[in-house]
Amino acid sequence: MHSYTAPLRDMRFVLKELSGLEQVARLPGYEDATPDMVDAILEEAARFAGGVLAPLNASGDRTGAHWDKQGVTMPPGFREAYQQFVANGWTGLAANPEYGGQGLPLLLSAAVQEMWKSANMAFSLCPMLTIGAAETIELVASDELKARYLPLLVSGEWTGTMNLTEPQAGSDLAAIRARAEPQTDGTYRLFGQKIFITYGEHDLAANTVHLVLARLPNAPAGVKGISLFLVPKRLVNDDGSLGAQNDVLCTSIENKLGIHASPTCVMLYGESGRGAEGYLLGAPHQGLATMFIMMNAARFAVGLEGLALSELAYQKAVAYAKSRVQGRAIEGSTDSVPIIRHPDVRRMLMLMRTQTEAMRALAYTVAAAQDAASHEVDPAERDRSAAFVDLLTPVIKGWCTETANELANLCLQVHGGAGYVEETGVAQLLRDARITTIYEGTTGIQANDLVGRKVARDGGAALLGLMHVMQQTCVTLEEHGSEDLAHIAKPLGRAIDALAQAAEYIVNHYGTDVRGVMVGSVPFLRLFGLVAGGWMMARAAHAAQLRIDADQPFEGDVTFCPAKLVSARFYADHVLSTAMGLARTVVNGGASALELDEGFF
Ligand SMILES: Cc1cc2nc3c(=O)[nH]c(=O)nc-3n(C[C@H](O)[C@H](O)[C@H](O)COP(=O)(O)OP(=O)(O)OC[C@H]3O[C@@H](n4cnc5c(N)ncnc54)[C@H](O)[C@@H]3O)c2cc1C
Repeated sequence: MHSYTAPLRDMRFVLKELSGLEQVARLPGYEDATPDMVDAILEEAARFAGGVLAPLNASGDRTGAHWDKQGVTMPPGFREAYQQFVANGWTGLAANPEYGGQGLPLLLSAAVQEMWKSANMAFSLCPMLTIGAAETIELVASDELKARYLPLLVSGEWTGTMNLTEPQAGSDLAAIRARAEPQTDGTYRLFGQKIFITYGEHDLAANTVHLVLARLPNAPAGVKGISLFLVPKRLVNDDGSLGAQNDVLCTSIENKLGIHASPTCVMLYGESGRGAEGYLLGAPHQGLATMFIMMNAARFAVGLEGLALSELAYQKAVAYAKSRVQGRAIEGSTDSVPIIRHPDVRRMLMLMRTQTEAMRALAYTVAAAQDAASHEVDPAERDRSAAFVDLLTPVIKGWCTETANELANLCLQVHGGAGYVEETGVAQLLRDARITTIYEGTTGIQANDLVGRKVARDGGAALLGLMHVMQQTCVTLEEHGSEDLAHIAKPLGRAIDALAQAAEYIVNHYGTDVRGVMVGSVPFLRLFGLVAGGWMMARAAHAAQLRIDADQPFEGDVTFCPAKLVSARFYADHVLSTAMGLARTVVNGGASALELDEGFF
């Protein structure tokens, strides 16, 4: 079976040529991210991902996590891998040095996370949630809670979770019922059930720190009455040692389609009647706003899962297409040929290759903007970067994960029947990818956020600003004078126009026909994603062309830049060409979707 190899060259190209690693390394606090340091970390991560995590991916899927009354047992090898992960300090790569982190840029962390997710997505969810919990605690917890919990979360010795979902409260967190009762000593006792909690229970670490949404007595109804609590699995004594088991219980784990090695837990708080001891994080009733810190980081990280699984799908498809011999070449051949020779297989491989490259470039660029938003000295620059991240986060989450599902599907198609049987690992890939469009907010919820909060609310101003930057890229390409770049600029220009038409429709009709507009919200998100991806491919093509002009092959590889130009041309011909259709759906598709009475369904 094919095994994962980190695409280091493309990662470095994106880091250095497109997402501005050099500028990020100049930001105060990021001086350690020297080119040598970055290369060494990428190499080391690639070794760990390929050598330790990837070999556990298929066996983890087959064995799965196992629940019994004693707790959850992870599949063989996971404990040892996690211990190595902690010993290597991977959890704290981008965390604050004050709590033991290495304080490196999120940009570098994004590339490293991509590797964990490609190699073993089920494993990667544990550190992902731990990092999110640590970031949230750092932002809103008291100094005492920070001192007690952060160093061990940052080191990875303890792990973190995110407890939002309840049976009646999925996409709509206003329906949360879990409750928290204040105690005279300033702590709280929590009661209620949470479902679908990733890594709610496991045997990888000595303690788990749950971040739980619950309501205080007499809290206002809806989202304005939700508070956030830190609830440890085991209480922590004043001297930092582990104390008694808290009133927190995992009563079962889900038997589910994919990510079998990631335990998805039903959690009971306060089952014994005592209540789970917890500590308020941030102000009362502000829990959802605080949780959004964790959710936005997690949404970006799930977008990275989309990218990572797309890369894996591409690698698997290429390996198979080169080795599977079937049929004669369409133009004539004496012998049967490897299927990579067939034009339709080439088309599928190019769809996978180019969309993965586009996702990587966009995701890393957003990661670099996150670094600028937190570390720039100039407040105006910080705000600009934060606005860019805000606009793009639902796109990264929605577009990368939806595309990953399509590419996993294409990977299976390249494999023919072999993809449909478990042995090749393609079925696992498809099963694992399927959750990414659902958790951390479904694609529909991302699209609501994009259309309602990020586009309609400001009259499309932020998007207009971004489209202006994209148009500048078209001009740069046209001005260069090369045929390849002109070939890419034209479809990109038309796709930007299509995005502008769709955005204009949304802004003009959101107030008068919100239902009609929202029919087109997911097509709009998709359109936005593929145009932003096209913009990235155009930038990549330009950078590659300049290197070709100057006779400076990237990392000495004379094939890399010409191949990048081909990728960008293919993306323009095959992906950007669908933009106008999506724009038409946004503009014209509302009425027919809503016309039939509910009784017809
Ligand atoms: C494997 C797994 C791991 C998970 N991990 C966690 C975790 O660690 N912590 C946690 O708290 N939760 C977790 N979840 C829960 C996950 O976040 C929810 O399943 C998800 O938010 C969707 O909620 P739901 O399942 O209730 O679906 P619903 O909200 O019932 O949605 C069903 C459908 O209706 C659509 N829909 C609903 N509301 C709207 C709307 N307003 N506009 C448009 N469409 C809408 C959705 O897009 C979807 O297509 C996990 C779930 C799974 C399956």
